[in-house]
Amino acid sequence: MIPAEFQYISPKSVPEAIALLQSNQDAKILSGGQSLIPLMRFRLATPPLLVDINNIVGLGYIREASGWLHIGATVREDDLDNAPIIREKYPLLRETARAIADPLVRNRATVCGNLAHADPANDHPATMLAYRAEVVATGVKGERVIPIDQFFIGLFTTTLTSDEILTEVRLPVPPARNGGAYVKMERKVGDFATAGVAVQLNLDTAGKIQQVGIGLTNVGPTAIRAARSEDVLRGKMPDDTLIAQSAQFAQADCAPSADLRGSEEYKRNLVRVLTLRAINKALERARG
Ligand SMILES: Cc1cc2nc3c(=O)[nH]c(=O)nc-3n(C[C@H](O)[C@H](O)[C@H](O)COP(=O)(O)OP(=O)(O)OC[C@H]3O[C@@H](n4cnc5c(N)ncnc54)[C@H](O)[C@@H]3O)c2cc1C
Repeated sequence: MIPAEFQYISPKSVPEAIALLQSNQDAKILSGGQSLIPLMRFRLATPPLLVDINNIVGLGYIREASGWLHIGATVREDDLDNAPIIREKYPLLRETARAIADPLVRNRATVCGNLAHADPANDHPATMLAYRAEVVATGVKGERVIPIDQFFIGLFTTTLTSDEILTEVRLPVPPARNGGAYVKMERKVGDFATAGVAVQLNLDTAGKIQQVGIGLTNVGPTAIRAARSEDVLRGKMPDDTLIAQSAQFAQADCAPSADLRGSEEYKRNLVRVLTLRAINKALERARG
């Protein structure tokens, strides 16, 4: 329960942090520490150096600009919950932040840390798929923008290199008549999801679904885009039959494993039910 010995440095700028990562390939970034510190305490991670990015000024922003909502690397779950712009315009994002753990964890845990950690049980990855987000990786050669569909490549694995910092996640500002919802089933309050479904959509003036994103949590080695579930809804006037079809595709296309949270069959059925609920909730919000 006591971590192995490590060095700790708290740089004041992004270039300084990158230089530290470059000079030690096994170093780890410390953000909220809510995943990294427990791993270190169990000695499942033994980084020789922690590069704490919390004292870098200027990474704590939440702002809209040029058609995107930009969220900096040190923004915490609690910041999302409290930011007026998130309350007003990003219900899916706020619902996701509020579904994570408990207030103690949410006070420290960062959105970017949640994505960089790439635990399939984490809640933000599916939500970012639903929003069609992009992430910004900053390294020695400057910034690299990565569409979220190309970011998660396996269990706890992303396309970030060991000397890059995930400095920002950005979401397209939602068009008119949009709605989103995150529906999560957990064994008890504060637990990781048995399964979760994120839906973000918008309607045209006639009420047809113009664009839709559907992401699935903890039913595969990474968060999963439910592409067939989206395709069946896009461009259509939503009705119960189409929504049921979309949910059935999500049930068929997820890849859960049996564990203490339930059997594969149970989790697939759960994904179907949660997808139905999330689509209906998102539609209700889009209709206003
Ligand atoms: C009791 C408990 C319950 C939890 N329940 C949930 C839950 O229900 N849902 C959920 O989604 N999460 C849950 N979490 C995880 C929590 O949200 C984590 O904090 C989050 O996954 C990681 O964010 P962090 O800022 O704490 O990252 P850290 O722990 O600081 O880092 C995690 C990993 O990401 C890397 N990293 C962090 N930031 C960056 C960056 N900016 N650029 C590059 N790499 C980076 C680190 O080097 C490390 O490898 C829980 C945690 C605890 C302790």
